[in-house]
Amino acid sequence: METIRYTLAPKIVHKTIKTVDISLAKLVIPEPQKFRAQIQGRKILRLWRRGKYLLLDLSGQLTLMIHFRMTGQLVYFPPSAPHPPYTHIVFTLNQGVLVYADLRQFGRLELLPSNKIEKHPILSKLGPEPLGIKREEFEALLKAKRVLKALLLDQNVIAGLGNIYVDEILFCAAIAPHRKACSLSRAEISRLFCCLQRILKEAILLGGSSVRNYVNGLGYKGKFQERHKVYHRRGQPCPRCGHAIVYTRLAGRGTYYCPQCQY
Ligand SMILES: [Zn+2]
Repeated sequence: METIRYTLAPKIVHKTIKTVDISLAKLVIPEPQKFRAQIQGRKILRLWRRGKYLLLDLSGQLTLMIHFRMTGQLVYFPPSAPHPPYTHIVFTLNQGVLVYADLRQFGRLELLPSNKIEKHPILSKLGPEPLGIKREEFEALLKAKRVLKALLLDQNVIAGLGNIYVDEILFCAAIAPHRKACSLSRAEISRLFCCLQRILKEAILLGGSSVRNYVNGLGYKGKFQERHKVYHRRGQPCPRCGHAIVYTRLAGRGTYYCPQCQY
């Protein structure tokens, strides 16, 4: 999501939304007619992110909050470029178009008064941003008796960590995903904290992981998937010790790890 934000920002901030075409009503809140009436003519002032949510602050104290869920894509195109498949919403800007496409249609675009954002029922519960978190704060979060993988995936504990990144972070730290968070030693917490920062920074630098249909705000795929050490590598040799990578389900999510060097 951070990759989408930073690729999109220079293209859309300070542009004005001239018209909006909505071909799938359920994706927008409020309903299309009101959504269109409220958003047309507004200027995009700022593009920011909280957890996995992208937020566009608009002129007139309005904010557009976008939740991509499984397959949502927000891509900027120059005028007259062809739109991607499954395009449902087209924002025509004073220069170029901003397209929302969504294969599985679970995403949502919600228009809210900017002063209600802080108190939004989802956003107000989100945990701290992983790259903004302090060491002591991180250590305190890990005192819970929960399974580590489930804890790290919980957006209300740390906001914005996806399944791929949690597997890669745990591999980097050589910690098994099914450990209880509170069982970690100080040295392990230290390793985990360093790996969290390192993996996320590397992924952002490489433009994210293109699994499923992920593309950045300009429609390009990321390159972090080429660096995956365990994710989607079931049965392949561990890059650290050579043992076969194992697949299991934890916290309802597919989980990849090395049973020999992650313990
Ligand atoms: Zn290994």
